[in-house]
Amino acid sequence: MIKPMVRNNICLNAHPQGCAAVVQRQIQYARKNLSPADSAECAAPKLVLVVGCSNGYGLASRICAAFGYGAATVGLSLENIPTEKRSGTPGYYNNEAFDREAAQAGLVSLSLNGDAYSNEMKAKAVEAIRQAAAKAGIPATIDLVVYSLASPARTDPQSGIMYKSVIKPIGAALSGKSLNMMDGTFTNFSVEPAREEDVFNTVKVMGGEDWELWMDALDKEGLLAPNTRTVAYTYIGPELSWAIYKNGTIGKAKEDLERACREINNNYTARNKISGAWVSVNKALVTRSSAVIPIIPLYISCLFTVMKEQGLHEGCIEQIARLYRERLYCGGQVPVDSEGRIRLDDWEMREDIQKAVIEKMKKVTPENVFAETDLAGFKHDFLEVHGFDVDGINYDKNSE
Ligand code: NAD
Repeated sequence: MIKPMVRNNICLNAHPQGCAAVVQRQIQYARKNLSPADSAECAAPKLVLVVGCSNGYGLASRICAAFGYGAATVGLSLENIPTEKRSGTPGYYNNEAFDREAAQAGLVSLSLNGDAYSNEMKAKAVEAIRQAAAKAGIPATIDLVVYSLASPARTDPQSGIMYKSVIKPIGAALSGKSLNMMDGTFTNFSVEPAREEDVFNTVKVMGGEDWELWMDALDKEGLLAPNTRTVAYTYIGPELSWAIYKNGTIGKAKEDLERACREINNNYTARNKISGAWVSVNKALVTRSSAVIPIIPLYISCLFTVMKEQGLHEGCIEQIARLYRERLYCGGQVPVDSEGRIRLDDWEMREDIQKAVIEKMKKVTPENVFAETDLAGFKHDFLEVHGFDVDGINYDKNSE
């Protein structure tokens, strides 16, 4: 019997059947809401690589490509395999469930477990892409590369140096109240400003260098084609989060992701080697990565209340289905903002939504946090990401 073990907004274990049920539910959504016929003018992707495929936005990207458009998919992620004493990571069970469902549906899928930053895994992915294409009976050129890594560390494949990313403000310390999602209590947090090397290290891990290395590796192997598209994900969020996010170390890394996107477009799109590279600004959602960022749990709890009231709430699968249907594969030009970015955070950032969220945040106290905000929804989503609190799963029964 597996019960959630949560410490400081980090869940240390996962439930296999719960994870599988969540994957199945996302598959149903993709089947219902996407179809290759939607994208008649701009052919739906047939061969897709997802780097960071096992959770959150990457998993939703893979599910939408496979079960929405019938694509053969190669997915890569870094997961702990279960042992006698320890459960696997949720991504391990998600990949297992994805591959099982894909096989049942007659879809080609290959899932690789290893460090996406390494040369070794890039070489293995190249092999897997060729195998997937051969199995599916399609040309071995990739239609879509989704880059969706969220990682605390990266070993540079050239130098062998390991860099660690940190979530810190730049210029001044930041303090405030942090919300514990499990019981609704608030604790004071204080984060020292980043040192120069913190910024450098975080850019090394979460910036765009590795995305460029992926595109170069795929190009060298002849796996890119004029219809190849590539997308990586970022977040901007409201001003109240900028000290820790947009103007902090992670924001610098995301600026570098946008730099890499421009480079990829200069090197490949401008020479007609691929169709285009985009950074997509997505909505704040509960994933394993977002729950540990100070301010975000309180902000998301307020945001979800407001967006649910307005009928505008989306999870990862809804966001990515909209990305494919209304942005990447809508036919014609991909709609972008003045900086060339795709905006899926358009509903989150609407003036009326942000105004209502800020009003709500001002009213929240430890006494009313469950009544005023959707903390219950946040907690549910967080547990669900790990396969817990999922409808239809009997958690008192032994897990196989
Ligand atoms: P997540 O934690 O749910 O998933 C991260 C994925 O990266 C997992 O599949 C994990 O296995 C994989 N990964 C991590 N290190 C790896 C490594 N070394 N090798 C191979 N795989 C590795 O994260 P997420 O929240 O879905 O974030 C994905 C992207 O979306 C990130 O760039 C993030 O900044 C962005 N984003 C997230 C949000 C949000 O609110 N969660 C909002 C906007 C944008």
